[in-house]
Amino acid sequence: MRFSYTRLETYRRCGFQYRLRYQLRLPGQPRPGTRLALALHGALAEFYRALPPEPRLDALLAAFDAQWPADLVERDVRAQEEGRSLLTDYFHRHGDQWPRVLAVEEPFRLELGRYTLMGTLDRVDELPDGTLQIVDYKTTRTPPVEPDTFQLDLYQLGLAAKTGRLAERVVFEYLRHGTRRVALLDDRNIRPTLERVERIVAAVEGDDVLAPNPGEHCRRCDYIDYCPALRGDPLPLPLAAPDGQLALGI
Ligand code: SF4
Repeated sequence: MRFSYTRLETYRRCGFQYRLRYQLRLPGQPRPGTRLALALHGALAEFYRALPPEPRLDALLAAFDAQWPADLVERDVRAQEEGRSLLTDYFHRHGDQWPRVLAVEEPFRLELGRYTLMGTLDRVDELPDGTLQIVDYKTTRTPPVEPDTFQLDLYQLGLAAKTGRLAERVVFEYLRHGTRRVALLDDRNIRPTLERVERIVAAVEGDDVLAPNPGEHCRRCDYIDYCPALRGDPLPLPLAAPDGQLALGI
């Protein structure tokens, strides 16, 4: 079985949500900001992949514009304008301090016995002192929060699997807020992270109930209408076809 940070985190948050998303493969609700988020990630990847000694704003904006089709509905036009503004601010915040980039959109994959841990690192930089930093772009509208240590640890695992090296820090770039959060990674021992992943995977595999876990996170749940904890008369659950395709319930 393949696991990602998002998949493990979904289970930690709510077993019922995990069941709908990963076992029954019920698609989530389309979110208005998804297209913009993908375009921002795509533009930054393109920009940093071939970062010249003197980066130019017009190159970054051209990379962003290339992420959009020619025909756009009005909502997408507004999103594109917003994205250009966010990237312009991002570019100017750098001044002339540009990193030495080692990797962009770097996928990693760890074979851990009966399961595989997968993920992608947005960017990896080498700092002037020779240490590494992982950069993660955030496009959320919600205010920046303290980094999730589990996510940091999984990034370290991914980097170690890919390069054999560990990072000194992870930088979360909050593009909509024009700010960044830096988390220093003091613990150079990745064994506890592996054990933690192992515990969550074992819990997922041994959980035959996958019960709802109501809380603050329900406000952003795509499956609220199916949830017996939140709805008195929830929608019937869809059936998962044997090949993993979604089959609608009746
Ligand atoms: S509404 Fe809340 S309890 Fe129900 S599935 Fe979603 S996250 Fe879980």
